[in-house]
Amino acid sequence: MFEKIKFNQFETFSELVHAISPRYFRNDQGKTEEFFFLGNDKNGEKNYHVKRFLESIGITNKPLYFVNQVHGDKIYILDDADLTSNEVVKFSADALLTHIPGKPIGVFTADCLPILIYDPRLKVIGAIHAGRRGSEQSILLKVVREMNRVYESRPEELIVGFGPAIGGCCYEVEDDCVQPFKNMLPDEANWFRTGLPGKYFLNLVAVNKIEGEKAGLLPENIFSIDQCTCCSAQNLYSYRREGKTGRILTTIMLRP
Ligand SMILES: [Zn+2]
Repeated sequence: MFEKIKFNQFETFSELVHAISPRYFRNDQGKTEEFFFLGNDKNGEKNYHVKRFLESIGITNKPLYFVNQVHGDKIYILDDADLTSNEVVKFSADALLTHIPGKPIGVFTADCLPILIYDPRLKVIGAIHAGRRGSEQSILLKVVREMNRVYESRPEELIVGFGPAIGGCCYEVEDDCVQPFKNMLPDEANWFRTGLPGKYFLNLVAVNKIEGEKAGLLPENIFSIDQCTCCSAQNLYSYRREGKTGRILTTIMLRP
């Protein structure tokens, strides 16, 4: 339950630091505490916990750069090393990209799919918040296209990691929630399972895998943790299971 989640594939790049937060950590008193990454941070708790988590993966004295996530398809590119994290968070977007070393970027999720993306040739990193609505708007495909447009990344060279999200085992949705995907993926069927009348089980990982391949990613460059947040009460937050709950932080940084 204190175990951070990492992608083996990303670990092979010595220039990268990345991790997905567990639910718990040991505080300075040796007590078990939950990572708390939410809210307006009146008491500085969120800041402290983010700092604490970054330190646990060897990132010290650096703020986390994240955006105001709105379940959309906007992509924020951190290309100005002088911007502060307080300025960046004012941007509403659901993906961040940067080529600047020493800037940890991240997304917060609880059931939505967190995705990390890396261009090992050009040293560009990205973090994506792909929930149902982001996936419906093809956010991963748009990120791959944006990396190509801005950095001239080649889709076939990109490495992609899917973090823990609510799985096809637990993510029951209404008919109207699957309709946009049926329109998007008329020839595919492995991204959902039929439930009771009018109900479906949606598989966000499968949807994004199809989207990623449509964008030109190679199947062998797509890695998935394949862990369902809703099935993992011991170590992960899940909005579906708990309602009001915490968030999982998925972060990546190019070493300075
Ligand atoms: Zn599950």
